[in-house]
Amino acid sequence: MKLHFLGAARQVTGSMYLLETADKYRILVDCGMDYELKRNAVDQGPIFPFNPADIDLVLLTHAHIDHSGNLPVLVKDGFKGQIVCTPATAELTAYLLYDSSHIQFSDYRKNLANARKTRRHLIPKPLYSEKNVSETIDRFYTIHLNKAFQPRPDIEITFQEAGHLLGAAGIKISILENGKKQVFGFSGDIGRLNSKLVKDGTPFSGIDYLISESTYGGRKHTITKTAEDELFDYIHDTCIKQRGRLVIPAFSVGRTQAIVFTINQLKRAGKIPEHLKIFVDSPLAIKSTPVYERHPELLNEEALSFKANHGDLFNYPGIEYLENKDEHEALTYYFDPCVIISAAGMVEGGRIQEHVMNNIENPYSTILIAGFCAEGTLGYRLLLGQPTIQIKKKDKRVYARIARTDVFSSHPDHDEVLHFIKESGGKNLKQVFLVHGELPQLQAMEMALHEEGISHVTLPEHGQVIDF
Ligand SMILES: [Zn+2]
Repeated sequence: MKLHFLGAARQVTGSMYLLETADKYRILVDCGMDYELKRNAVDQGPIFPFNPADIDLVLLTHAHIDHSGNLPVLVKDGFKGQIVCTPATAELTAYLLYDSSHIQFSDYRKNLANARKTRRHLIPKPLYSEKNVSETIDRFYTIHLNKAFQPRPDIEITFQEAGHLLGAAGIKISILENGKKQVFGFSGDIGRLNSKLVKDGTPFSGIDYLISESTYGGRKHTITKTAEDELFDYIHDTCIKQRGRLVIPAFSVGRTQAIVFTINQLKRAGKIPEHLKIFVDSPLAIKSTPVYERHPELLNEEALSFKANHGDLFNYPGIEYLENKDEHEALTYYFDPCVIISAAGMVEGGRIQEHVMNNIENPYSTILIAGFCAEGTLGYRLLLGQPTIQIKKKDKRVYARIARTDVFSSHPDHDEVLHFIKESGGKNLKQVFLVHGELPQLQAMEMALHEEGISHVTLPEHGQVIDF
């Protein structure tokens, strides 16, 4: 049996692992888009170091594009099997893949228009079309959490709660080969304990090999308050005391729902005025929010008891979901105190850039960054605290307050990952493979595991193949 590390090896994006049995049954775990590669390559070469037609089965841990974003390429290039995931993941992935295809086409058109004639052939073409996405969705086959299934008598697969995003799962794969059973646990992305809306993730039991994310190895979240208290302080200081606008860049799927729900809690508790306007300016958030309503079985106790007492989680007095462009543009001329939640989370692309542009020179506004921002993104540059910043080729003075919070982070910090690995077998694991993190983060986690007496740790390189 062989395990190929084909993505998110010593980097964060592009999750993809290939598990291959001795008789060449091939299971692909995740098929994510590699942003690190996309940024600097014009001629990307073949995306897959294998023939997609040779893959028998795809397992998808969750909907995020860095785990699902290359599925349409896989199907376009000849994959004929099933893509297995939870029902909520299937629904969210469909919305995210269509959105990804639209973004690729719109970027392509923009880049083409801006490029000199002689350089137009160098502009990377979109990886897939809407048609490719719909053909991918046709291949989805859904399975509920904790229900084992056997694609072959010698292979058993179970999805279990990851606590990271609605429908997100860790995947346990047990393979019987030459009379010997070997069990693998793929963490996917791990969630934090006590997250908003989703249940806590469960550690693995009875596995031999763990493939674990370590995005925040060596880093600690600075969380001193509950999500409600933290958000209350920002809303109170900005919208009530200063009568300004609070702009929150947030991913449309996951973080937006967590923030919208938390504001609902504050309103129902009478802590912030009912009439305070909350604008959700993201068509993708509008599409994906009902998925949360359709899957109460995946919601945690806090969300369910709130729903039982108050009804809607995401609809309440003062909230407005803006779908079309006119509504989005009209928001520029709304001058009352308000909260604006818009995508994308790292302030790269999407409608949020305009809201940041419109508010950055306003000393009464706050821009609250609610998660990780990769180097080079506008979110990252905002957090550097410079007096001027370039947005859409215009220099802007920074008068708004720029703040950052970890309370809505959907990834665990160092101690939480360490805890997950210890609970998933710890010293009894034959090998721990650390992935989905930059090298310094992986090395910090490796060191911590060694200190805990967990000595069989590997930081696989891209393309590395392990024989079992
Ligand atoms: Zn994720």
